[in-house]
Amino acid sequence: MQLDDLYRRVIMDHYKNPRNRGTFGDDAVTVNLNNPTCGDRISLQLIIEDGVVKDARYTGEGCSISMSSASMMTDAVKGKTVGEALDLADRFSKMMKGGDAEFDDYEDIEALSGVNKFPARIKCATLAWNALKKGIE
Ligand code: ZN
Repeated sequence: MQLDDLYRRVIMDHYKNPRNRGTFGDDAVTVNLNNPTCGDRISLQLIIEDGVVKDARYTGEGCSISMSSASMMTDAVKGKTVGEALDLADRFSKMMKGGDAEFDDYEDIEALSGVNKFPARIKCATLAWNALKKGIE
């Protein structure tokens, strides 16, 4: 898989130095999802109060795409309202469909834009975002 060098560096940085990896107590909203085609699995926990995603953490294992995406997603949605978080998820899914997407509020996410050229990996990249949507519902 050939990705732009800069993008690759951003992805590997999130993979090797994951943000927000860990768990909260049992009170947090918990979503477990997996992507059987690649073997990725994620357990996402969200703390949502007054319509705001106060905090987000995840554990799991999988390829660099799925894990870096989870790291970026949890970082990007912290402090956002539920509506803003869903808007981010929406923009991410457009980007995976080949659309233009800008993430001025969290530019690292754009590093995953090249994944849309590799259909088999799109599920890796969207796993964390699907977990987010499920958790907010
Ligand atoms: Zn994967």
